[in-house]
Amino acid sequence: MTDLLRITDLNVEYPVGGGRHVHAVSDVTLAVRHGETLGLVGESGSGKSSLARALLQLPPPQRGSVLFDGNELTQMRGEALRAVRPRLQMIFQDPIASLNPRRRVAEIVAEPLIVSGVRDPAERTRRVRAVMEAVGLDPDVVWARRPHEFSGGQCQRIAIARALVLEPKLIVCDEPVSALDVSIRAQILNLLEDMKARFGLTLLFIAHDLAVVKSVSDRVAVMYLGKLCEVADSASLFATPAHPYTAALMAAIPEPDPDVPLGDTKLKPGDPPSPLDPPSGCRFRTRCPHAVDRCAAEVPPLREIAAGREVACHFPLIG
Ligand code: SF4
Repeated sequence: MTDLLRITDLNVEYPVGGGRHVHAVSDVTLAVRHGETLGLVGESGSGKSSLARALLQLPPPQRGSVLFDGNELTQMRGEALRAVRPRLQMIFQDPIASLNPRRRVAEIVAEPLIVSGVRDPAERTRRVRAVMEAVGLDPDVVWARRPHEFSGGQCQRIAIARALVLEPKLIVCDEPVSALDVSIRAQILNLLEDMKARFGLTLLFIAHDLAVVKSVSDRVAVMYLGKLCEVADSASLFATPAHPYTAALMAAIPEPDPDVPLGDTKLKPGDPPSPLDPPSGCRFRTRCPHAVDRCAAEVPPLREIAAGREVACHFPLIG
């Protein structure tokens, strides 16, 4: 599979005054292949959402490259960037907050078409009705209603319809089910799977819940404090986690497979360090049960330890 998106040495920093910066994303290099679902997992504050927004140039990253479908997005501005954006859409965590409460559902779903220059009202109506039906909404029922008349799950269907109406190639799903009732989550995950197959989509699926990521992803990337820890195909990563942080995340899944060898997954006590002043060397060292002096002195590069398997650790749990 070829790459649809390739991020290289991406850095996102937020100034907080006094010359200090939050190092939200640091030197991340990652590819998303055509037609795959890449899960991006990590705790709150690991930089997942900052990474997602930076690749959409919302706002642009401080440093690094974002090559999407042959376009270097970090070099594009204005009309050129607007011409590419329809192919790159995003679904947000809170579906109710992501929809304008004053607009009717038909207007919300049609808005991207208007912004991208589809001037024919009949054409817009045809496409809005088609995408509503695709996501399981009856256009005749929902057309003139407003978001507050719907449940969280239905609002996420509306948000998915809005993302699909421009026929994107890549959808960045930023925690798309974490704000929903557990009973609704499976429906939305199944809908995303159906839409991926039907429209030939590629998904970057961001979540803090490894169990959710496991259920949808072809490959998984794990982030900690703004850095990538591990990238692997889903089956390998869940069978044999190579990075101590991945192993710790897996140990936190409520019903881990007792046959899966997790090694020593017990984290050192204490809070995660601040991204304002991340630890030297390996950023995970203050919580890692395997840390030694070298971990404080040398940044572990993300390196391939097996075909398609990368890990940023001096002493991976496998290989
Ligand atoms: S480099 Fe050292 S501190 Fe970092 S994960 Fe590996 S063993 Fe732990």
